[in-house]
Amino acid sequence: MSIAQLAGQPKAKRILFYALTSGKVSHAYLFSGPPGSGRMNMAMAFAKALFCTGEGDDACGECLECRKFEHGNQPDLHLVEPDGNSIKIDQIRELQRELAYRNISTSRKIYIVQRVETMTLQAANSLLKFLEEPQSPVVAILLTENGQAVLPTIRSRTQWVPFMPLAPDDMLQTLANEGVPQLSARAAVHLASGLDACRALIQQNGFAEMRNVVIQLGKDSLTRFTAAMMSAQQHIFKTELGEQPQLLLSLLVLWYKDMIHFQAGRHEALVFIDQLDWIGKHAFSRSAEGWVTCMEYTLEAGKRMRAHVSPQLALEQLLIRVQEG
Ligand SMILES: [Zn+2]
Repeated sequence: MSIAQLAGQPKAKRILFYALTSGKVSHAYLFSGPPGSGRMNMAMAFAKALFCTGEGDDACGECLECRKFEHGNQPDLHLVEPDGNSIKIDQIRELQRELAYRNISTSRKIYIVQRVETMTLQAANSLLKFLEEPQSPVVAILLTENGQAVLPTIRSRTQWVPFMPLAPDDMLQTLANEGVPQLSARAAVHLASGLDACRALIQQNGFAEMRNVVIQLGKDSLTRFTAAMMSAQQHIFKTELGEQPQLLLSLLVLWYKDMIHFQAGRHEALVFIDQLDWIGKHAFSRSAEGWVTCMEYTLEAGKRMRAHVSPQLALEQLLIRVQEG
C-alpha cells in the first residue's frame, strides 16, 4: 500500500508528501488521531516510501526495497507496541540496541511506536534522550489516539501529524477497492467508526440479514402497521437478530434518512440504494420534518431500551408513533 492509495487524511498526506518531495524528513513524527483513522497503515506506507529507491515520491511497489517491505522482510524497520498495558523501559532499551547495531548497510532505519501515550515515565525519558540525540538516518513514527496525553517534552521534539475520523465516503471507497459487498458497506460506514470496525461489522453474523429485515420493517412501518408488528415478532424477536436491537434501530434511522436524501436529490448518498424505486415512490409521502420526527422516535426507542424497557415493547411503541406520524 502506498500513501496515495490510503483513504482520506489529506492534511497528513500533505505533510508526509512534503517531507518526501523536499527531502526534509524530520527525525520524529507524532501521528495523532482517533481509532480507525488509519494511523498505522499510514505509518507503514510512509516508512515504505522512505525505504523505496524507485522514481517518484511515494512507494513504487516494484523496487527491491518495496518488495522486501511487502514481504515483511525489511530489517531496518522496527515496531514497538505496548507489552500488556504499557510500553516499558526495557522495550525502549532493546529498540536502542537494535538501532545502534551497525550492519553493513548505512541505510535509513525507521521505528514505529504504537500507543506511545502508554509509555511508562522511565520509558518516555529513555525515548526522549534518544529523540534529543537523533542518529541522523533514523526516523521515529510515534502513534497515539491522544496527542495531548503524550509528554510535552516528546511532543515538542516531533513533527505533529493530525488524523481525522474517516469520512463515510472515504471508507466506502476503500471497502469498494477491497471488494467488500457494496450494500453492506454502504450501511456499515455510517454505523462504525474506522475501517477495521466497518469490516468487523460487515463480517458479523447476520448483518446482511439484519439489513434486509430493516428494509421490510421500514417499509411496513409506514404503510402496513399490522404487518410491521408481525414481522418484528417473527423476524427479529424470534431470531438471533433480536439480540442486537440497537443495531436494528441504527439501521432504521438510516432508512428514514434515505427518504430525506431522496427528497433533496442526493441519490448517490442513499444507504439502501437497492431500494431506490420504493424510496422514490414513498419519499414524498411525508415532509422532511416528518422524516426527522421518525428518526427522533427511533432514537428515543433506543434510549428506552438502554433504560431497560423491553426491546420488543419499545419497538412496538415506536411503530405506533411512526404510524401516527
Ligand atoms: Zn519502491
